[in-house]
Amino acid sequence: MEKLKRRIQRIKKKRPGYGEILDFYQRVKEAQEKIKVSLKMGPIKLKREWKELLAKEGFSLIQKEDFPLDREASIKLFETLCQIGKNANPHMAKQVRKIEEAIRNKKIDLKEILKSGVKEQKIVQFADEFKLDKKVFLFLIQNSTKPSVEAGMEQLRSELDPETWLKGYCPVCSSLPHLSLLREEVGRRYMLCSFCGYSWRMDRLICAFCNNTEQPSLQYFCGEGEEAYRIDLCDKCHQYIKTIDLRTLGESDPLLEDLATFHLDLIASEKGYKRPVPNPWMT
Ligand SMILES: [Zn+2]
Ligand SMILES: [Zn+2]
Repeated sequence: MEKLKRRIQRIKKKRPGYGEILDFYQRVKEAQEKIKVSLKMGPIKLKREWKELLAKEGFSLIQKEDFPLDREASIKLFETLCQIGKNANPHMAKQVRKIEEAIRNKKIDLKEILKSGVKEQKIVQFADEFKLDKKVFLFLIQNSTKPSVEAGMEQLRSELDPETWLKGYCPVCSSLPHLSLLREEVGRRYMLCSFCGYSWRMDRLICAFCNNTEQPSLQYFCGEGEEAYRIDLCDKCHQYIKTIDLRTLGESDPLLEDLATFHLDLIASEKGYKRPVPNPWMT
């Protein structure tokens, strides 16, 4: 956390425009870290024979909703994030008040929502029904269940070899990657799962979303003086992924680096490319 705070200070000095969102990020991260130490989680049971079959057929180990959640801790974190959200910006504050009111009036029962795990469709349905801001509600749920989900992923880590999967979706939970990372001196490329945070190896010259390997249609650009961040564009599916070069940056928090380079996403979007998993902090 101290390292993260120092990095945030450095970025803020360089790009003051990101100050507000980075402060918000730091407060959310602090709340998540705090809850992590007291999580009570059951084990995820995998059937051995299933596991082998799944890997052979290219299926992930589990699905998003299969991650066990510490519901009590998630609800406590949800409440903390609501408090943080009310001080973040006026839009967020207004939406959070509406959500809190719906909870107080027993229109929404968080315990019930989380009963069957993190089901985005269901969460969005609830938001629609009570005229809540979908993005804000989903953001709060995802960030309050994130410590549980990540603890579940850590349990499963030893079941997999991150070097051999080589596919465009997560071997743990089948979600799409939201970032790509370059690590080690040779610049091995890893994908970072947008849901559970697992990272796995992938070839450098392939589009993770459509498997395109034709070189002329795979291009990239960097921001000026920002060689550690690049946008990998695919002209076949017109989508892109942001790549963060951790060889130059050192071990940093990829989500934070992503957030602080939103200007690159704007350029990619102006060029007509879509990001399959947008940065949830900026939408
Ligand atoms: Zn995953
Ligand atoms: Zn593609």
